[in-house]
Amino acid sequence: MELLSYTYDLSNIDCHIHSRFSPDARNAGADEPQKIADTVRAKGLRGFIATDHIDVGHWKDFAPLDFDAYFTTWEKVKRDNPDLDIHVGLEVGYEKKHAKETARLIADLPLEYIINSVHYFGKDVFALGKKKAYAEYLNAVLASLDAPYPFTTIGHLGFAERYAPYDISERVIAYDEFEPILRKIAERAVERKIRFEENTNTDGEMRCPRSDFLRAYKDMGGVRPVLGSDAHVSARIGAHFDIATKFLDGIFG
Ligand SMILES: [Zn+2]
Ligand SMILES: [Zn+2]
Repeated sequence: MELLSYTYDLSNIDCHIHSRFSPDARNAGADEPQKIADTVRAKGLRGFIATDHIDVGHWKDFAPLDFDAYFTTWEKVKRDNPDLDIHVGLEVGYEKKHAKETARLIADLPLEYIINSVHYFGKDVFALGKKKAYAEYLNAVLASLDAPYPFTTIGHLGFAERYAPYDISERVIAYDEFEPILRKIAERAVERKIRFEENTNTDGEMRCPRSDFLRAYKDMGGVRPVLGSDAHVSARIGAHFDIATKFLDGIFG
């Protein structure tokens, strides 16, 4: 496994795309891999990274990938589309209790990019109230930064907001409110040279991560996040990249 370096130019590349290899995308009508390449080109992007799901311990929701078919398929798409910068990766779901098994599962794969994402952070956690629920989520993200497997990118920081049942006016994970833990996340990311992604699977509204966090992270030496649409169907590839680019320009110049 040789992951793309911290400084590899990922500008104008969609760094978070699901294909029919992700069960949740397959069932949602994901397109064939070549169609994804065609869409990326048609949208004027320089390339993309295939990042299908691995969520150990949740195979009922996300069955294991057929890794042989996965790499054979994407290597062919790479060969057939030499004008695009295409990489093969995974979005790995982090949970402390499954982290070692995850590490074993992916250890020998020829991956170039790994998004480490927290999708599961306690059952019925939102019933604990906003403060406790978000603390559970953010502590899981902090723990994910010491996962026992390599990764390049922290997926969708702020993900818990997307599913929180709280009123829209109080759903925000504000930097000031969760400062100690968010500061630790930013510091550890800078220290480990791990990038964030600006996840645009937010209907263009919510920023993920948000600006207050990114400003603090930048002050600590953090670098501009990459862009990821988190598309599960081709129509969503590169969605809202114009808004996210302006947003990041405003913070990182
Ligand atoms: Zn995710
Ligand atoms: Zn995703």
